[in-house]
Amino acid sequence: MIRQAKGKTPRRPPPKKPSNNQKDPVGVYCRVRPLGADDEECCIEVISNTTIQLHAPDGLKANRNGEYKETQYSFKKVFGIKTSQRELFEDVAKPLVEDLIHCKNGLLFTYGVTGSGKTHTMTGSPGQGGLLPRSLDMIFNSIGPYQAKRYVFKPDDKNGMEVQNQVDALLDRQKRDSQTTVPKTPTTRRIDPEFADMISPEEACKADGVDEDSSYSVFVSYIEIYNNYIYDLLEETPFDPIKPKWNGAGTPLRNNIEFIPPQSKILREDQNHNMYVAGCTEVEVKSTEEAFEVFWRGQKKRRIANTQLNRESSRSHSVFIVKLAQAPLDADGDNVLQDKNQVNVSQLCLVDLAGSERTSRTRAEGSRLREAGNINQSLMTLRTCIEVLRENQMCGTNKMVPYRDSKVTHLFKNYFDGEGKVRMVVCVNPKADDYEETLLVMRFAEMTQEVEVARPVDRPICGFAAGRRQRNQAFKEELTRRLEERGGPVDGEFPTVLNQLLQSFPPLPPCEISGPNDDVTLPRLIEALEKRHKIRQMMIEEYNKTANMLKSVLQEQDSNILSKENFIQEQRGKLGEKDKMIQNQKNEIDRLEKKSKMLEYKIDILQKTTNIYEEDKRSLQQELESREQRLQRELSEKRRMESRMQGMVTDAKLKWEKECERRVNAKQLEMQNKLWVKDEKLKQLKAIVTEGKTENRQPQRPSREKDKVPPKRSASPSPVPSPYNGSQSSLSSLEPIYNFSQTVRSDPHFPRPGSVSVASCISEWEQGVPQSRRQGSQSPPDSRKRAQGLPNSLSRRRGRCWAREVPVQPADVDLEETTHWTGPPVRPLHRRSHSAGGERWVDHKPTSNVDLDTVLQPNIPNAIKVNAPNEKALSKCDKYVLTHQEVASDGEIQTKLIKGEVFKTRGGGQSVQFTDIETLKQENPVAASRKRRSSETDPDGEPMDGDWTDVETRCSVAVEMRAGSNLGPGYQHHGYPKRRKP
Ligand code: ADP
Ligand code: MG
Repeated sequence: MIRQAKGKTPRRPPPKKPSNNQKDPVGVYCRVRPLGADDEECCIEVISNTTIQLHAPDGLKANRNGEYKETQYSFKKVFGIKTSQRELFEDVAKPLVEDLIHCKNGLLFTYGVTGSGKTHTMTGSPGQGGLLPRSLDMIFNSIGPYQAKRYVFKPDDKNGMEVQNQVDALLDRQKRDSQTTVPKTPTTRRIDPEFADMISPEEACKADGVDEDSSYSVFVSYIEIYNNYIYDLLEETPFDPIKPKWNGAGTPLRNNIEFIPPQSKILREDQNHNMYVAGCTEVEVKSTEEAFEVFWRGQKKRRIANTQLNRESSRSHSVFIVKLAQAPLDADGDNVLQDKNQVNVSQLCLVDLAGSERTSRTRAEGSRLREAGNINQSLMTLRTCIEVLRENQMCGTNKMVPYRDSKVTHLFKNYFDGEGKVRMVVCVNPKADDYEETLLVMRFAEMTQEVEVARPVDRPICGFAAGRRQRNQAFKEELTRRLEERGGPVDGEFPTVLNQLLQSFPPLPPCEISGPNDDVTLPRLIEALEKRHKIRQMMIEEYNKTANMLKSVLQEQDSNILSKENFIQEQRGKLGEKDKMIQNQKNEIDRLEKKSKMLEYKIDILQKTTNIYEEDKRSLQQELESREQRLQRELSEKRRMESRMQGMVTDAKLKWEKECERRVNAKQLEMQNKLWVKDEKLKQLKAIVTEGKTENRQPQRPSREKDKVPPKRSASPSPVPSPYNGSQSSLSSLEPIYNFSQTVRSDPHFPRPGSVSVASCISEWEQGVPQSRRQGSQSPPDSRKRAQGLPNSLSRRRGRCWAREVPVQPADVDLEETTHWTGPPVRPLHRRSHSAGGERWVDHKPTSNVDLDTVLQPNIPNAIKVNAPNEKALSKCDKYVLTHQEVASDGEIQTKLIKGEVFKTRGGGQSVQFTDIETLKQENPVAASRKRRSSETDPDGEPMDGDWTDVETRCSVAVEMRAGSNLGPGYQHHGYPKRRKP
């Protein structure tokens, strides 16, 4: 489908076009090349000048079950093997060149498999120039005389064209001249033999109807599309391998050729929606030779690139673009009109497409296969575009044409989409090997013919009168002629001006003399001649004057020119320097760009690394936070638990304290009751005993006698005595809560190893006391007492001066046997000081002792515990205690703590002086109260100092050492200061 609005040609500005409904089909021509020398079978036959017939080759026929296949294909014109390049050009390209000159665009491409003659058709060879050189030749033949001076037209970099003023153009020309050493006149130029003689002069063509009132300039570009990348073949790189040839001698690069892979270009759309290759080199050319030289330069570059990059040229598309810029002359017909809007640009694209064969045919492998795939892909896109175009045009549909899918179709979009003439030469090789590929080519060609392209419209005429150039030319010629006429006399002729001047001279009088007397004629003649002579003199003077003046003017002009030339030379030098500087800066820019790219890349990498680390940091922080939270939770949980446990512990402690207290109280009560019962029993027994004894004994023991006073005892039934009873004496108020009674019971089953001697000692001691006090008084024999198992009435007794030898003691231990009590014992021994660190005890617990698991256990801090006393232990201590167990009368174990003081003997040994016996036994509280009472006072009110009281007091004294000590709460002795008998 053709969109009128976008039917833009590269002309600028797009002129108001008359509506263009005229369309022409794509002109498809077929050219059959001669069969190669090695090929035998020909499968193409030219039937007419528009039709060819394909014959399936023999091998293929056999494969298809002998089916004979003949297909015919028609084209606009078929060119047989004998067709000359000129004939082809005349029919195919000439109309396009004419269009180009008339501001119309054209596209011409060759299509076919490799080796079918595409390049031959497009480029040709020496002596057989193809469509391209012929087109160029025709262009220059047509516009040659009307070409603008170089750089009058200057392409901008947006596919547009500008008109430069004369001065700028002149400067550009001078710059070019300074840069190149190419001779200005093409005739004297050395022509590359490779492209020499492309066209013989007699074959020269010329377009008709060239607008003489316009000025023209030709620009050429040459690009290659390879693997869907566009490369500029005319781009001049600093190390261009071709350039030295064109620059002439003197460049150091010449012998140091370095191949730089070309950079690909991109396609852009200009403001008129025409596609163009951005930044593509456009070279202004002034002659066929020059144009073809440029083409050849590109061709060489292409070849080198293909060789260096190991590519096949048959896989690339080459596009040679000829741009013709034209602008009307100004009203004088002298210079190009300085109006950009009046510039018209038309272009002719000459395209040598890549081989249309399928990939398999090229036997490509690896990367080559990919390239081939792309090449075929771009041809496939071309095919698709043509198909869609045809469908849209024939069926009236509006499908999108996929021009953009490949660079080739994208670049030529405007031709199919807009307006212009499109022609295609389908090249075929009649050899049998190509048959199948040729079939495909034919089908494509047939299809392409059905596509129509809008016919380009005629360009509008500018407002100036026609024939300006001719008039200007005529004027100039006349001027030149006149100047020439004025300049100098031609030999043998009077110059016209002088003739006129001569005519202004006075006429000569008749000089015929009538007779000898005629004296009139001669004088008249003489006069006239003299006049003339005068005039002549005057003229000569005038002439000389003018000549001199002119001479001086000319000299002045000459010197002016010289100085101008010098100036120009100077400027050229400066320009060269500036160019060098620019080049250096360009190189520097390149280097910096590369560096910046690398730095960008590095920054990119660093950025990525930073991101990764930050991510890590974030995750670690999150983890840390979550762990801290967990820790916090656990801590608070722990605190809660702790406080709960604390509470529980306190509760339990309180509970148990209460419980213990309760139990202790209960036990106390129970024990007191028991004590009381026992006491009662004892009393009864005592009474019995006393009764028996009174007959033959004197009452010598007031304490005992006091014990015998039942009314007093019964009168005090208080079961729990109070230690703070105000009615009691000061001594009794210091008595312990417990009264311990001594109930000795003989139990043959109770093992008493090691304690027999002690027990007997105690018995002896108990009995020895009254004996000592009441000399000669009788006491019941120990044996009897023991045999009877009677309890000793004394709960506590203190040996006043009782010592015995420690059995393990060596012989040097002095024994103090004192049987009388007369105050403190004589102490010949050194007594240890108590001041330092308090008393130190030897805690003698025989191994036979039974662990009673009771709270009533003595716990002596800092004591040396021994199973049997030894001197070593005794030497370190000043107190001695023996824990002695006995079975009481009620079957309970009775513990006695026999205490003594350790003294050093004179002989260096240790002696123990027993001072106290503490019996640990619970007593009925009733009995206890009674007992206490008994110890308070005698019936006469005197404080008793009998054994009872004495022992009791001493018992309390015995536990004095516990005062303030860390006994358990169950051990409820009161602390008393140790009292000694005065
Ligand atoms: P393509 O460009 O299609 O690959 P070429 O143009 O390179 O093919 O042609 C391959 C060979 O065939 C060349 O050597 C060329 O000279 C020769 N050739 C092609 N067409 C013709 C023709 N019409 N007349 C004579 N020789 C031809
Ligand atoms: Mg080729």
